[in-house]
Amino acid sequence: MTGTTAGQILQLVRSGEVTTRRELQEQTGLSRSTLTQRLAMLTAGGYLSEAGAQHSGVAGRPAKGLSFVDTDKYVLTADLGATHARLALQDAAGAVIAESTSRIRIQDGPDPVLAAVLDGFEALLASAPAGSAARDGLCGIGIGVPGPVNVATKRLQQPPIMPGWDDHPVTTVFEERFGVPALIDNDANLMGLGEARRHHPDVPSLLYVKVGTGIGAGLILGGRPERGIAGGAGDIGHIRIAHPVAGAVCACGANGCLAAHASGGALVRQLTERGIAAETPTDVARLVQAGNADAIALVRTAGQLVGEVLATAVALLNPGVLVIGGSMAMTHEHFLIGVRESLYERTVPLATRNLTITASALQDRAAIEGARIMVVDHVFSAAAVDARLGLA
Ligand SMILES: [Zn+2]
Repeated sequence: MTGTTAGQILQLVRSGEVTTRRELQEQTGLSRSTLTQRLAMLTAGGYLSEAGAQHSGVAGRPAKGLSFVDTDKYVLTADLGATHARLALQDAAGAVIAESTSRIRIQDGPDPVLAAVLDGFEALLASAPAGSAARDGLCGIGIGVPGPVNVATKRLQQPPIMPGWDDHPVTTVFEERFGVPALIDNDANLMGLGEARRHHPDVPSLLYVKVGTGIGAGLILGGRPERGIAGGAGDIGHIRIAHPVAGAVCACGANGCLAAHASGGALVRQLTERGIAAETPTDVARLVQAGNADAIALVRTAGQLVGEVLATAVALLNPGVLVIGGSMAMTHEHFLIGVRESLYERTVPLATRNLTITASALQDRAAIEGARIMVVDHVFSAAAVDARLGLA
């Protein structure tokens, strides 16, 4: 790596591969003077700090610790669901500076929803204790949406539950308002990314399944979402199950979809049919937490149906961790028990022997955390940093 650029050096530090000047010199093979010059550029640019003695070097000289300067850089993030929006102002390290939640109707289309998000972002910046520092230090915006996204074009691709959003230039309105790069991805991809990088950094293959109003999945390989060729990877909610119930019509218009039988939305309908009051997937989770026997039985059956569909994915991919997120992660393991039952029944022991099946640790902050990581990875990539330093 004798040609290691300043941006690539920052990448090595950000990833934790190197923490000292000595390690950097060993890894890159750069001469002492070249290394000093590149580190000076990164320090002057506000990207890197070289703090005092971290531990003693062999010759008794203190080894200086290198770190990415991430607490004076800010990211605005939005997690847009079918009926709910969560907005946050975070620093690049992940600390939440300000946050808000509101009710939205994604089916109303992009104009009213994006206008509300723009207002919400302005309100977060205005309320931030850091004040103008947050606005001045804003480096990017990350948006999560409940539909397939082609990240190359930054456009939604025929989202089943988002009429009017197909091919809409969502990120443009944010870039024009705030003058920083805006990125967009599917919410399950971002939730998986957040879980993977924050809680399972050493697991090369993680499958995240969001079970909320609908069902979607994100596959994280080597710390990055695998999106498929058109952004359609992980859209498992519309797989037709083996034994569909007559009349269970999906939001996409088809019959027999997994989401029409096993999502939080489907459970709301099943409980309502039994005369049990529930309006949202969160109500379903609360009924389970309160020990309602019908809710517990229905949630467990829903878990089994999701496990049935996931068995194929687990057999194909042999992931290390399967994370269940969304409202069904808050059902005291009942949903997870159902998933485990049908997964273990349908796969060979090798596929599940080392598989951890767990509820989301980040819970309803998983998407904004993933959105923050997506933005930081992009804005502080080696190529982007070199370009800003005038090196590329
Ligand atoms: Zn469907």
